[in-house]
Amino acid sequence: MGDLAAALATSLPKTLTLDIETSPNIADVWGLFNQNIGISQLRESSRVLCFAAKWHDKRATEFYSEHDDGHAEMIAHAWRLLDAADILVTFNGPSFDVKHLQREFLLAGLGPPSPWRNVDLLRVCRAQFKFTSNKLAHVADRLGLGGKTPHTGHQMWTDVLAGDERAWRLFRKYCVQDVRLTEKLYDELAGRGWIKDHPHAGLWTGSDRCCPTCGSEELRQDGRWYTTPVTVYALMTCTKCGTHCRMAHVKRRVTTRPAR
Ligand SMILES: [Zn+2]
Repeated sequence: MGDLAAALATSLPKTLTLDIETSPNIADVWGLFNQNIGISQLRESSRVLCFAAKWHDKRATEFYSEHDDGHAEMIAHAWRLLDAADILVTFNGPSFDVKHLQREFLLAGLGPPSPWRNVDLLRVCRAQFKFTSNKLAHVADRLGLGGKTPHTGHQMWTDVLAGDERAWRLFRKYCVQDVRLTEKLYDELAGRGWIKDHPHAGLWTGSDRCCPTCGSEELRQDGRWYTTPVTVYALMTCTKCGTHCRMAHVKRRVTTRPAR
């Protein structure tokens, strides 16, 4: 193992859980129902107001806001965190949080942070389960992980935009709780082997024969096999988290194919 491999393969990935809150778009409207709003009616576009973020191996949850830190410093810090992350855990992050932040990076004259792998728990929930609702509040509640912080609805955003200190304290509590809930859901789903395309932990631990999710080398085979339509592989299960994985080498392959 060369120096590069040694440097690469020494630990667990740097896993960051993140959640942002945004301001509403503000526009002149001529009615309430079924409106088509033109760009000329738009007074203010949505922007990132704050975010909370937590490293998986740290106890504290960080909170940055334009109220406390100023918009530019908040965005610069989000950039630094994403730049340092190997894995980003979110609930709908790739479609929402990441894209909002990337717009802010561009507007701030920044390039993209160095790449990370996304673990989007909304995508996992949609793909694997049929919950009545795929909202974080519902899924977390059903799993007994706790609830979101109750708030005053749209009034909280109105008060926050007006700079109300009490509203900002509640906003902070709400955003931080969302990150904690998201991380709890990650621990629940990853800890029970439900995240099928989790970035392979072995890339960071340096073990080429470990559980893709948690990095444990305690895998049991028990003579079970994983089959595709024309190939057979050894099937392994992690004794720690229950993730199923297969060995990369082919145990058996057939060379005839059904003619269609
Ligand atoms: Zn595992």
